[in-house]
Amino acid sequence: MEGKYFHHALTILQDVCIGCSNCMRVCPTEALRVRKGKAVLYENRCIDCGECYKVCPVNAIIIEQDDFSKIFNYKRRVALVPAVLLGQFPTDVSPQEVYNTLIELGFTDVFEVESSAEVLKNFINSYVSDSSIPKPVISSFCPAVVRLIQVKFPALVDNIMLLKPPLDLSAIYYKQMLLDQGVDESDIGIFYITPCAAKIAAIKSPVGDDYSEVNGVINMDVIYNKVLRVIKQKTPEETKYKNTCTINPQNILWSLTNGEANQIEGRCLAIDNLHNVIDFLEKLENDEISYVDFLEIRACDEGCAGGVLNSGNRFLTVERLKNRVKNLSAQQASSTVLNNGCFEKYLPIFEQKIAVEPVKPRNMLKLDEDMAKAMKKMERVQRIMKFLPGIDCGTCGAPSCQALAEDIVQGDAAISHCIFIQRTMEQTRQLDPDHSFRIMERIWGKDRFSKTSQKAKGRKRR
Ligand code: SF4
Ligand code: SF4
Repeated sequence: MEGKYFHHALTILQDVCIGCSNCMRVCPTEALRVRKGKAVLYENRCIDCGECYKVCPVNAIIIEQDDFSKIFNYKRRVALVPAVLLGQFPTDVSPQEVYNTLIELGFTDVFEVESSAEVLKNFINSYVSDSSIPKPVISSFCPAVVRLIQVKFPALVDNIMLLKPPLDLSAIYYKQMLLDQGVDESDIGIFYITPCAAKIAAIKSPVGDDYSEVNGVINMDVIYNKVLRVIKQKTPEETKYKNTCTINPQNILWSLTNGEANQIEGRCLAIDNLHNVIDFLEKLENDEISYVDFLEIRACDEGCAGGVLNSGNRFLTVERLKNRVKNLSAQQASSTVLNNGCFEKYLPIFEQKIAVEPVKPRNMLKLDEDMAKAMKKMERVQRIMKFLPGIDCGTCGAPSCQALAEDIVQGDAAISHCIFIQRTMEQTRQLDPDHSFRIMERIWGKDRFSKTSQKAKGRKRR
């Protein structure tokens, strides 16, 4: 949905940022610059992957969430829990204890997000088997990947699967179930406990959809700490949470690497980690990959177990979830009570609501809405690139020489921001050293130079 606003969950606290440029150097879409000694976000390029959040040494980047107290605006307060939340806890904490504690904290209902994958996999299999759908079909599960394709690989947008992920299906299911029980719509508050920033952005500004059924988002590290604090203080006595819809054990792994691909028919590949993802999508764009039916692509290592808001080690999380699958499978094999028929009644509603509209590209390289002007600007970028050194040193406050050239044609920077051009201009007397110094101050901030100038003054005195 091009033109629609792009909500970003990440905020840079300007008073905390020290302008170290770590974030700028890791951003996969060159969405950050340093100006006046602070990181600045180019919103049209950001995909909410959270890579910058991981490397900030002073926690200047925060992931916005809804205030926990917002849940009390509703009579029915539903926690949509992804399986990876359970994988964070030590092995002696059972899922039942976690659910009981969520109820104790104020939720009235708890529902495991991946439960609805049971329905989704059938929809995906018939979607993938449709010969008119472009192949490979790229999973719509990871919102950072969907946004990455929108901004960096626009030629691949038609490959994005136009089906809602389990998060949306679970919200639709649970809301409808409560409505059927006679609960008033205004009394239902559905809250997703998120392992990453991209899911927040997807809920606040869904791609290919007008709105989300989810009313709020709470970061997983916050919930993890709240739950663990309660569990450490006391053993929950009675069962407060009663499960009415049992998860199929296989679906517990849906958000992990291969969790989705393993359940889809045909030739399926699973790719995780943003660098691998970019590398793979480049190959796909260049037609170097063929005869693949379905691609499960996750921005984080080990899928959602590697989400930036997880508190636990991702490998331990995966191990715990796999153990849970084993235990549940054994239980379900010997029980006739557990079943997963809870969705059957709701299949017509899923059929009606599962599709999303075609995803549109958000071409970050588009230099102008007017094609002729954009072409002229692109030619100018190419001319400027001939003068820049091409070593992507970042001293200009942009992550690469190409990014600086683009900023120049957009009027956001000048060629004299390049330290190599400055030295050359000084040598040919087109720029005096004082002016060069002021340019660097404007990029890196005056404070950055006060240390070095004091040192230089000290040396002079000796
Ligand atoms: S969230 Fe990702 S895309 Fe956005 S600024 Fe940070 S690193 Fe770049
Ligand atoms: S990593 Fe980015 S946001 Fe954090 S201090 Fe460095 S420049 Fe500022």
